[in-house]
Amino acid sequence: MTVIELCGAGLTYPGPPPVPALRPADLTVRRGEYVSIVGPSGSGKSTLLNVLGLLDRPTEGRFLLDGVDTASLKDHKRTALRAHRIGFVFQAFHLLAQRTAVENVALAQLYRGVPAKQRTARAREALHRVGMGHRLDSEPSRLSGGERQRVAIARALAADPSLLLCDEPTGNLDSANAANVLDLIDGLHGEGMTVLMITHDQAVSSRAQRQVSIRDGVLTT
Ligand code: ADP
Ligand code: MG
Repeated sequence: MTVIELCGAGLTYPGPPPVPALRPADLTVRRGEYVSIVGPSGSGKSTLLNVLGLLDRPTEGRFLLDGVDTASLKDHKRTALRAHRIGFVFQAFHLLAQRTAVENVALAQLYRGVPAKQRTARAREALHRVGMGHRLDSEPSRLSGGERQRVAIARALAADPSLLLCDEPTGNLDSANAANVLDLIDGLHGEGMTVLMITHDQAVSSRAQRQVSIRDGVLTT
């Protein structure tokens, strides 16, 4: 089963002047793979993330997610597909400050149409899975950076996504917390999760099974 399939997919920002931020590329990621995209600042990583995350449409070529050709989908279908199939993990965590860990994870499922009763149960389960079962009722301000990122990963997992899409998930962490989060991601991969890691950091990238580099918008396997 193929999770990501880019077929000649590229994105040129219209400008003027037009910026060919992602050159037409092919990329296949199968279920259970752990793939990294590594490249320096300005190389097109965010552009690619936005395409893979269904936040932007490629201006040429095709992007299939779980075999679904996304180009022809209306916006509300793309939103639903994103909510159900993709778990995002960002550098800056994006947790709600006044909410507990379990509330943060439960609230995110609102958009995924999970019935109210199930949200808390799933949130608890996801937090246990990332080793945060002992801090269910803590607010983010009482957690370390690494613990916050674990909560954010639990939030991403709670929808049972087919893809964990990580954008510099250790960028705000000290080396001990970063190692901890990367170990967690390794473990999730070991359990069968499909992971796509986007990073400028070669050490982070090297944790993946397969590394793809991006430079000046060109993907190179
Ligand atoms: P990265 O995330 O690797 O730093 P980006 O994908 O953000 O790279 O940017 C790739 C290229 O596209 C850069 O040259 C950047 O200036 C350009 N770019 C990014 N967003 C836009 C936009 N909305 N309009 C025009 N150019 C853009
Ligand atoms: Mg970027």
